[in-house]
Order: sequence, then C-alpha cells, then structure tokens
Amino acid sequence: MEGNIKRRNTQQRKIILDILRSTDIHPTADWIYERAREHIPNISLGTVYRNLKILKDEGLILELNDGKQSRFDGRVDEHFHFKCTNCNSIYDIDSEDLVKVNKSSLLKEGYQVESCDIFFTGICPQCGGRQN
Ligand SMILES: [Zn+2]
Ligand SMILES: [Zn+2]
Repeated sequence: MEGNIKRRNTQQRKIILDILRSTDIHPTADWIYERAREHIPNISLGTVYRNLKILKDEGLILELNDGKQSRFDGRVDEHFHFKCTNCNSIYDIDSEDLVKVNKSSLLKEGYQVESCDIFFTGICPQCGGRQN
C-alpha cells in the first residue's frame, strides 16, 4: 500500500513539474492547480502546494514572490526576472554579464554567492507598445 501511495505522489509531482517546465509565464499555484486537474481530476490545491514545496526544496523549481503572491518557475539556471507593473507578467531576463559582474565583485569583498535573485520592475514591451 505504501509503495502505491509513494508511486502516486511521485507521478503527481512529475506532472506538476512538467506543467511548470512547459510554460514561461511564472504561474501561481492556482494556475498550476487548474492545469494539474486536467491530468489528475481529483487532485486538491493542498496537494499542489505540498508538491510545489517539495520540488522547491529539491531545487527543481524556484518560488518567486511578486509582492502579493507566490509565483513558480520551472527554470532554475541563473537568470533574472522582469515584472511588469501594468499587466503583472513576469519575464525571464538572460544576462550572463550581469551574473559575472555581481559574482566577481562580491567575491572580492569576501561574499560567497550561492544564488542570485534580481527583480526588475517596470512596464513590459507589450504594455509599453500599447501606450504609443
Ligand atoms: Zn505588461
Ligand atoms: Zn524565470
């Protein structure tokens, strides 16, 4: 019995991870829950939250706080985020140069960097385009 439960949990976790890795919108737990229900109709929001926490503890996903709620990211390589204050979208920003500058300059001062979480905020190109 226990083996079955364990297998089921592993499957649920894999589905949640797949959902998260298939999108770059940095969804909320509610959004993930809606998608997960298409695969597992009887899954509960609590189960989704629990699995998200486990995935985060395992280092497989990131949890971002946009100031109001948690957003989740299936991308765990070093990257930055831009949050649009108009439409609430979160974008991935690739900037390897920025990583290098931060790491090397901090290292010189004796800090050992383990992770880096920079949040840019402002107006995204889509919202800016609308204003023109
Ligand atoms: Zn926007
Ligand atoms: Zn991201």
